[in-house]
Amino acid sequence: MGRQQRVALIGGGLVGLSTAYAISNRWPDVQIDLFEKEERVSAHQSGRNSGVIHSGIYYKPGSLKAKLCHAGREKLIEFCTAEDVRFETCGKIIVAVTPAEVPRLDAIYERGRENNVRCTLISSEEIAEFEPFATGLKAIHVPDAGIVDFPGVAKRLEAILRSRGHTIRLGAPVDSLQQTDGGAALTSQGQMHSFDLIVSCGGLQADRLAQMAGAKTDFQIVPFRGVYYELTPDARRLCRNLIYPVPDPAYPFLGVHFTRMTDGRIEVGPNAILATGREGYSLKNWNLTDISEAVRFAGFRHLARNHWKKGVDELHRTLSKNAYLKALKTLVPTIKAEDMIPCRSGIRAQALRPDGSMVDDFVILEQPNMVHVCNAPSPAATACLSIGEFISDRLSGRLV
Ligand SMILES: Cc1cc2nc3c(=O)[nH]c(=O)nc-3n(C[C@H](O)[C@H](O)[C@H](O)COP(=O)(O)OP(=O)(O)OC[C@H]3O[C@@H](n4cnc5c(N)ncnc54)[C@H](O)[C@@H]3O)c2cc1C
Repeated sequence: MGRQQRVALIGGGLVGLSTAYAISNRWPDVQIDLFEKEERVSAHQSGRNSGVIHSGIYYKPGSLKAKLCHAGREKLIEFCTAEDVRFETCGKIIVAVTPAEVPRLDAIYERGRENNVRCTLISSEEIAEFEPFATGLKAIHVPDAGIVDFPGVAKRLEAILRSRGHTIRLGAPVDSLQQTDGGAALTSQGQMHSFDLIVSCGGLQADRLAQMAGAKTDFQIVPFRGVYYELTPDARRLCRNLIYPVPDPAYPFLGVHFTRMTDGRIEVGPNAILATGREGYSLKNWNLTDISEAVRFAGFRHLARNHWKKGVDELHRTLSKNAYLKALKTLVPTIKAEDMIPCRSGIRAQALRPDGSMVDDFVILEQPNMVHVCNAPSPAATACLSIGEFISDRLSGRLV
């Protein structure tokens, strides 16, 4: 019998866990070690997102986002059904509230059709049939969008991997990465570990992990923090399922939306401002290394120069509940400040190029014995199982 092959995964978010799962499904004899720096899985983006199963309507046809979201959505639903994780295909509406947004809404509809996403244009009057408290000029109804308990998905993946004899190391930060003869090695907690292959899925730290391994990257992860509010139990009637605005095409974010969570709560958010650290979930939580690195990066300075007005508006919305309320009222005019309770924040990892443009698609870099997932923004939670399979395809020929 040959030597057992060993693979390391770095990152216990949905992308790292799903990649480990895909490798284990395909090569049951390979031993997997997953290194996660936090004491639990899905501590960052995967456990702090909106909980929405995206349909794939927004993404550029042919892009990895479009392909992997479409396939990933189906795989996620299959997984949740088999593993008893809460989800619901409740549908969503995307609402144009100003005349300027109508052609952008029409373009999203066309894109949805190109991406084979079921969607219907609905009139101002028809909006109330789906969401009685929402108003707008025109909308798209997307029946296949849904909601899911993403931390529940991560917990199931962790449990399956453990039950198959793989090792999930929590509280195990990876501090260095290097190629070795015929393999790759990493250090964690003062110990060196050798593997045949290493796959890094570091989310907010993804660029640093790739750079640690000597990969040439021309982008940097910039953290964008978004604040959520929760509606009071009495105000939950204001949203049945999912109400989204028309996104601003200059940004990769979808705009502040109303989201029913799988536990019945309604959350609104997130907005987007530069975070005070890659993992700075509160405004008091400053990480000077992260901030000075972002500010020294030419890409961030370009972005700030070009979009300072939007940045000021978003900051205003973060600091003032009334400013936030004003944005929500455009979609649901009867919402009041008393309906909203501050609840939590999430930080998106967004890769930025030196010219200030945002890297839109998923980016996966390959080195001889390493693979680095460098940009996995939304809809990577929806697409996680497909991203895992996509990466495992890249490893075929190297694992047996
Ligand atoms: C506010 C917000 C809302 C979103 N809404 C949605 C949505 O509704 N639907 C959707 O599909 N997507 C959504 N997304 C996007 C989605 O959550 C992410 O794309 C996805 O979770 C990325 O998963 P990941 O595993 O790449 O990253 P993460 O979940 O961030 O995981 C990366 C992991 O790597 C670990 N790590 C980093 N460095 C090291 C190291 N050196 N050693 C060991 N471990 C390390 C981190 O601790 C972390 O646990 C949203 C994201 C945010 C932030």
